[in-house]
Amino acid sequence: MNDINTNSKNKVKVDGILKGFPFSNPPLEEDLYKCVHCGFCLQACPTYVQTGLETESPRGRIALMKGVIEGRLTMNNDVIDHWDMCIQCRACEDVCPSGVPYGNLIEKTMSQVSESRKTSILTKGVNWLLLRRILADQIILSGLVGTMRIYQKTGMHKLVSVLKVLHLIPGNLGSLHDSMPRLSDKFFSADGQTYHPFGEPKKTVGLLSGCIMPLINGPEMRSAIRVLTRNGVKVIVPKEQGCCGAIHSHVGDLVKARDMARRNIDAFLSKDIDAVLSSSAGCSTRMKEYGELLKDDEVYIDKAKQLESKVKDINEFLYELPIDPPKGRLESSVTYQDPCHLAHTQKIRSQPRELLKLIPGLNLIEMRNSDRCCGAGGTYVITQHQMSLNLMDDKMKTVEETGAQIVTTGNPGCWMQMNQGAQKTNMPVQVKYVTDLLDQSYRAERIENETETESISINESAWEEERLELRSQWEKRAGDRRKRRDR
Ligand code: SF4
Ligand code: SF4
Repeated sequence: MNDINTNSKNKVKVDGILKGFPFSNPPLEEDLYKCVHCGFCLQACPTYVQTGLETESPRGRIALMKGVIEGRLTMNNDVIDHWDMCIQCRACEDVCPSGVPYGNLIEKTMSQVSESRKTSILTKGVNWLLLRRILADQIILSGLVGTMRIYQKTGMHKLVSVLKVLHLIPGNLGSLHDSMPRLSDKFFSADGQTYHPFGEPKKTVGLLSGCIMPLINGPEMRSAIRVLTRNGVKVIVPKEQGCCGAIHSHVGDLVKARDMARRNIDAFLSKDIDAVLSSSAGCSTRMKEYGELLKDDEVYIDKAKQLESKVKDINEFLYELPIDPPKGRLESSVTYQDPCHLAHTQKIRSQPRELLKLIPGLNLIEMRNSDRCCGAGGTYVITQHQMSLNLMDDKMKTVEETGAQIVTTGNPGCWMQMNQGAQKTNMPVQVKYVTDLLDQSYRAERIENETETESISINESAWEEERLELRSQWEKRAGDRRKRRDR
């Protein structure tokens, strides 16, 4: 257990707001005291449902924050452990009748924790390297994940898992190693490329590539782009963009989260676009809240609000467009897992379902507790491994109950977690994004129309990818030529 710095000399007092939190920008009293202890949020909270403990509930965690602010409690490890256990799924915020902004409260609380936690120099170094260098720099991250891909492809990963050598080391390194997601054969990268629809574009969008998603979901990101261009949307992928900052906020590193937000604001506002899209629920939520994150930044606050107004989850955007209903039949059953950051924070529930219902032959079966967290969530899989596994097991049981052949979602964390769950339980269920199925149906439609064979469909899809890739390379080279000419 880590020790923390509770040196009272560090405590700052700001009129009626702060008594016990040691740093500036603590959770606000006006938000905290909106909680009237009614308990409506308890059954929505996955950690309360798992443990039955008040201290692992939203109400309990808020009471601990109040205890610290009022000076009745010290922010020691016994208190911090309960905040650490919170997944930040914000299911509680969604059901709270008093409008307690729990997401904001826990984010500010974790920022206090992050600044005061006493850790070894080694842990500090690893955190700095991971959060500030690797996650913030897509070239370094791609290099690292590329090495992991070689490790997976050469069979080393399987061998180490079978020999269980890492399980001899204390901690959960062995389990984390075994749950490494399948890495994309071909990463997606933000190179400043543009994807054009046939004909005049109906809309032009900027696509957030993100940090982890392009490395594990390269093919899925290309599927999403094909669905957009098929529906007359021009897609620009700015090179200057970076990680949205959600993982940094999750662990309380708001300084770096703000840096990442400013970078994305500059990258997207410099383009002439109608919307900024993300296929990741966690990223679109973070970007929709850049205004709150940068509210004390005089230079960026207006730009942050301008960007926020353009951000859309890809399902939300496709539903509103609206898309041409695909005609290719997919004779399958499917269920939908609501990502917490779509359902609870963005209130996007019906749009992905309506898109699935457009696909002929696809039978949508609702699952029980579809909006209960699957146990993924920033670094939660690593820091609270056992709780994350318990939630994953529960989620896979509810998927199994539906008997569906496919489970869809809209967030890379959920996608990885359910893939891991399916692998662990040998469940014959495929995990997909809604846009994967739309893409599949559009492709099937072409085959049905042209009465082509399966082998042609594979060749055509390869050709389509090749075409998009060649076009983006061509655009890039043309851009470089223009820059050279302008110089
Ligand atoms: S957070 Fe909201 S729902 Fe939960 S106890 Fe407080 S007021 Fe009630
Ligand atoms: S954010 Fe999720 S895990 Fe945390 S208190 Fe709220 S419901 Fe519980």
